[in-house]
Amino acid sequence: MTVVPPPRTLPDEMALLLPSTAPDLWRAAVERAAHLLAPSWQEHPSLDLTALSFLLLMWSAEREQSPASLSAEAVAEELSVQGEQPQELRDLSRRIEAAATDAGVLGRGYGPGTLDPLWADLSCWSEASDDEAEGHPPALWAAVGRLRDVISGLTEAALRHASPPHPSLGTWTVSVSHRVRVVSPAAILSITCTTCGSREGGELHIDGPAVAFVCTHGHDTTTRRLEVQRVRNALAHAGLPAGADVSVEGDLHVTHRDCHAQSDPRHLSRFTAAVLA
Ligand SMILES: [Zn+2]
Ligand SMILES: [Zn+2]
Repeated sequence: MTVVPPPRTLPDEMALLLPSTAPDLWRAAVERAAHLLAPSWQEHPSLDLTALSFLLLMWSAEREQSPASLSAEAVAEELSVQGEQPQELRDLSRRIEAAATDAGVLGRGYGPGTLDPLWADLSCWSEASDDEAEGHPPALWAAVGRLRDVISGLTEAALRHASPPHPSLGTWTVSVSHRVRVVSPAAILSITCTTCGSREGGELHIDGPAVAFVCTHGHDTTTRRLEVQRVRNALAHAGLPAGADVSVEGDLHVTHRDCHAQSDPRHLSRFTAAVLA
């Protein structure tokens, strides 16, 4: 049976950016960014919600205005004057980082519920492969150009026709009766409690962008091996609903970060087909 995981919706993407401990200013920036992207979302489901949220946070700090009061026209104007030379984009990153650190949105470390990992994904050069000396420029750079295209024709009058989107539930729990296993084409690893070594039974606690494994003794283990989108994908392939509390009988198979986000864990390779079928 072929399972097609549901598309990423704007409310789901918002929830991914909103850990329960998120500062109010960040929440306001995400809500405004989602409203600005709502009219174009069906046509261009964009992964630029994170970039626009950080940009709005910065403009709102620099202009001493709330994110909600930044008009579509003002945002389009800011995007149109932003240069795209590497030096100008590096300056942009520095302004965002300064504003977000001042606001307490960044600089809180890499623990569960912090936004620093999201910013790192957006603003860091990614590793070079052998034939590229420089690596890939930060995702933020390309996002600026795409956002300019999407927002340039947008007006407040048009926005008033669309009610602001609300985030999906950001905090939910998956209880698993057996193991949580991370599947890659050549290996299957069980998530193990870093305190007591337990891996039979337990829960995944999802909070915004973070997933923690909580063992049957109640110890928390946070691991970058588990991502919310992949837990959602795993549930879809297991025929279960995602985004609210759910129980899994047996094992939950989550694909590894290096695999395509929507792939079926059972069909990554002949090995996974043989072991998991
Ligand atoms: Zn434990
Ligand atoms: Zn067992």
